[in-house]
Amino acid sequence: MPIQRFRKTDFRASDLIARKRDGLPLTAAELRWLIAGFVSGEVADYQMSAFAMATVLRGMTPAETLALTLAMRDSGKRVRVAKRGRPRLDKHSTGGVGDKVSLCLAPLIAACGGRVPMISGRGLGHTGGTLDKLEAIPGFRVSLPLRRFAHQVERIGVAFAGQTRDIAPADRSLYALRDVTATVDSVPLITASILSKKLATDLDALVMDIKVGRGAFMKSLAAAETLADSLIRVGRAAGLPVSVVFTAMDAPLGRAVGNALEAREAFEVLLGAGPEDLVECTLVLGAEMLRRGGLARTEAAARRLLLEALRSRAALSVMQAVVRAQGGDPRVVAEPDRLAHAPHRILVHAERAGFIRNIDALEVGHTCVALGAGRARAEDAIDPRVGVMIQRKPGDRVRKGEVIAEVHAADAAPGRRAARSIATAYEIGAASKPKPLVLGRRHG
Ligand code: URA
Repeated sequence: MPIQRFRKTDFRASDLIARKRDGLPLTAAELRWLIAGFVSGEVADYQMSAFAMATVLRGMTPAETLALTLAMRDSGKRVRVAKRGRPRLDKHSTGGVGDKVSLCLAPLIAACGGRVPMISGRGLGHTGGTLDKLEAIPGFRVSLPLRRFAHQVERIGVAFAGQTRDIAPADRSLYALRDVTATVDSVPLITASILSKKLATDLDALVMDIKVGRGAFMKSLAAAETLADSLIRVGRAAGLPVSVVFTAMDAPLGRAVGNALEAREAFEVLLGAGPEDLVECTLVLGAEMLRRGGLARTEAAARRLLLEALRSRAALSVMQAVVRAQGGDPRVVAEPDRLAHAPHRILVHAERAGFIRNIDALEVGHTCVALGAGRARAEDAIDPRVGVMIQRKPGDRVRKGEVIAEVHAADAAPGRRAARSIATAYEIGAASKPKPLVLGRRHG
């Protein structure tokens, strides 16, 4: 008997939506058809939104999640970084407040012998995005043609780019729908969204930083573990080893929140300084990348390599080369004070004496979006200069009236409003043990 092939007309979107609504699994061929139809316009946005909502409510089997991921990967082109030679490694964070790790980590890994083809995102909700932070560098271009992107990875070891129409376009369009239809919150959809982009860059290993806490999309460790299991399972089936590190996101990471402020802080790490929690997060994730890439045998050996790349300024040189190659002013890396400054600075004072128990990352994130560091709507422009510098961190003892943070604003009135919000984000009380940064790990 001849093999029967599915023609376009063999499925109807409404039937597939109804099956998902009723909790029945779809086949790989059906999911491929749906995604191909969505990208070509044959499946309408409203049908895809209904499908996304049915998936949020009914979930997917591991086989469906894998099929959806591969269909989304195959909706675009692949970035061809040569398979031979240095390992191709990447890190992806589920998003947090003050998370500028990618800006210091990618050049560090390249300085230690890896190649990092980093496809990054923009700020989402109250969380920041790597692309917005990079664009705080004057002249920096994040839209690179695929060939040039791959060539830069070969030559320098790192390239940063946004998801273009070429890379997993189904994810790009589906994400835009999910963002406005309350359908982001779904483990299979998040898994397919993240891994479709990562699989398109032909990596040898991926390290996921799953943020957990009030300022993260995953509020509990249990929810984060479910996502981790899904990412590891689908990654393994698709030939991509995935490691997961769960890190705390109750308070902002580091001291800077806001695009130019965060770029400055990331460069300070490359200059051998930077806040302890940011440096530690970078080293933990970096050590796992080097281990997975076969560049170090143990975590201790990997940390030694990373610290040497910081001490020798090898990672700093890589970042200067990246900024130059992508059209930016490379002087800002070694002289971060060259980045733009906001014209108004408003001090935030402690409302009482005591120990800082937490700084609500969600409140800080929303405050920074309101200042102009993020977007309320996709078309909103970003002001790279604005944000908050956290002067006092959890665990610090403060006196009443002491300066605990500094708001950087484009105008005085919104700056004063932001300062009031930041004051309320601080929980000051009796001494308490600060939460650890690393909450757990999982290896694929
Ligand atoms: N990050 C992504 O890239 N996709 C999601 O769905 C959620 C977080």
